[in-house]
Amino acid sequence: MPFDGFGLPDELWLLSGAVADFVRGEILPVEEDLPADAREIPPAQLGPLQAEAREAGLWCFEAPERYGGGGLSAFQAVVVTEQAAKHRFSFPLPGAGAFGFSPPVVLYRGSREQIERYVVSTIEQAWSSFTAISEPTGGSDPARAIRTVAVDAGTPGMNVTTVPVLRDHWSTEVSFDDCEVPVENLIGEEGQGFQLAQEWLVRGRLLYAAQAVGVAEEALRIAVDWARQRETFGALLATRQAVQFAIADARVEINAARHLTWEAAYTHDKGQDARTAASIAKLFGTEMGFRVVDAMMQILGGMGVAKELPLEHWFRALRVSRIVEGPSEIHRYLVAREILGAAATGKRA
Ligand SMILES: Cc1cc2nc3c(=O)[nH]c(=O)nc-3n(C[C@H](O)[C@H](O)[C@H](O)COP(=O)(O)OP(=O)(O)OC[C@H]3O[C@@H](n4cnc5c(N)ncnc54)[C@H](O)[C@@H]3O)c2cc1C
Repeated sequence: MPFDGFGLPDELWLLSGAVADFVRGEILPVEEDLPADAREIPPAQLGPLQAEAREAGLWCFEAPERYGGGGLSAFQAVVVTEQAAKHRFSFPLPGAGAFGFSPPVVLYRGSREQIERYVVSTIEQAWSSFTAISEPTGGSDPARAIRTVAVDAGTPGMNVTTVPVLRDHWSTEVSFDDCEVPVENLIGEEGQGFQLAQEWLVRGRLLYAAQAVGVAEEALRIAVDWARQRETFGALLATRQAVQFAIADARVEINAARHLTWEAAYTHDKGQDARTAASIAKLFGTEMGFRVVDAMMQILGGMGVAKELPLEHWFRALRVSRIVEGPSEIHRYLVAREILGAAATGKRA
């Protein structure tokens, strides 16, 4: 049970409770019936889940209400995301699309026509969207590496191919060959795209952190249930100090990650610069999630790595989460730069 000293309003508890109920009551039964080698919830099952979620008002949590979304603040979104992440295919998107796909926030800075075309359609039609920042020139420092200027899916010369990776949800490579983009597709001002993406990076990092907290919390719950009923050498696993310490360490780490995430989201909502706080939350959250899921798998023994349980899915996805949305080293660099100032780039005070 999360620390409630932040005085979360009743409506937020109700909303996160409704999301937790939806995950347990609707998403988990669908996932349990899928074959062991499934990598996602298939469209035939996802459609009805989306219809139910939309009917229940659990739709595109982060999109502004005026466009048909939930209008959640960053703080509200991390609280809800933690609950939405407690299922097998919750990477990269908690809910696996059942709660819709909130459009990338850069689109809200678009013209009225662009918002109608991309934002409203994404929310109404449950289109999935993505943000392509990383380029062959390097993803860790996009401010230097970005060469592409704008595109629209289906534009002649634009090619989209799947790149299989460790986690269930594979990534996509988009390439361009003499691709002409009309000027009306430009969002904001020319040359200012990376600044627009900064807000997306903060919100995205917070969601990665919240997702890791939710998954680690669920992995802990599964391992605790197991330790309470599994006997080896005539005694419950729960009596073994090695198991107790792993469980205690998981609790400490999850609570710490949640506090960092909530603090960063709260700072962002107050209109303060939350970039470093978001880096701290994403760095600690994803590294913590990987450590905790690994430790909980160990408590479950062979069952821990079985595909019928979600832990091995989360383990693979969390390994990827330590690289996407900024590798851990980049977040350490950003935090160090904030502390060291100009000296971090070699300039003397
Ligand atoms: C499954 C998946 C999904 C993805 N989805 C998206 C997406 O939707 N949109 C998108 O834009 N991108 C996406 N990416 C790309 C991802 O953001 C990049 O892989 C990531 O930012 C790292 O960039 P890179 O792979 O070019 O590694 P590089 O920039 O080449 O860095 C390689 C490694 O070097 C180390 N390193 C780099 N710089 C430093 C430094 N200054 N100090 C110390 N160590 C350093 C880090 O350990 C880093 O992992 C995805 C990647 C994967 C695997």
